[in-house]
Amino acid sequence: VLSAESYRRRHEISVTGDNVPPPFTSFEATGFPSEILREVHNAGFSAPTPIQAQSWPVALQSRDIVAIAKTGSGKTLGYLIPGFIHLKRCHNDSQLGPTVLVLSPTRELATQIQDEAVKFGKSSRLSCVCLYGGAPKGPQLRDIDRGADIVVATPGRLNDILEMRRISLHQVSYLVLDEADRMLDMGFEPQIRKIVKEVPARRQTLMYTATWPKEVRKIAADLLVNPVQVNIGNVDE
Ligand code: ADP
Ligand code: MG
Repeated sequence: VLSAESYRRRHEISVTGDNVPPPFTSFEATGFPSEILREVHNAGFSAPTPIQAQSWPVALQSRDIVAIAKTGSGKTLGYLIPGFIHLKRCHNDSQLGPTVLVLSPTRELATQIQDEAVKFGKSSRLSCVCLYGGAPKGPQLRDIDRGADIVVATPGRLNDILEMRRISLHQVSYLVLDEADRMLDMGFEPQIRKIVKEVPARRQTLMYTATWPKEVRKIAADLLVNPVQVNIGNVDE
């Protein structure tokens, strides 16, 4: 068994924040519900990736996180599984709107997140809806009306649907900004800020980014409260 320090050193993890919990170096250490452990086992995963190992214990403490890690490091389950556990604790009515909201820059990425949420969330009986532009609104509005615990959305389309008053974000208490640097590069900052205004201030906010330039630091400072920062490898500004 590795100490937290040696695991972090070995996997180039650096953390900042108060009392950052030690990483979960194995799936057994996570204490995840058995139906979730069964799904990761079925997927053939043998151990958490470094970003998962360090961000899961932080996210399970309901703390805000900024995670900086490159593509392919397993960030999606890094926020989805704590989101599933958050949902189980909430007992919200999905007919009244989602509890977990994930913002993603593109249709392609949003669809991948949706697929991961469906695959790993189905045994927990979670419902998930995906909203993106370049497709008719009708079916997406019908999906919303059926109710969803989790909404994965691109900022443009979600903002359009909010302006139509066809979705309510008043129950959202777990907000994820995935690929925050790309969303800002694509000019989505105004839409992100409008969306966040509709989300209650009492929430957990998780931001994932591959790079850490000043625009991303600024929006993190505005939207997150006392976050734990987790870096994997060298941080690219
Ligand atoms: P990122 O968002 O950091 O680019 P993804 O979340 O898309 O990365 O994950 C990349 C790939 O790794 C996906 O195919 C995912 O299913 C897989 N993956 C996630 N967690 C693990 C794990 N613990 N072990 C092995 N593969 C994993
Ligand atoms: Mg990703």
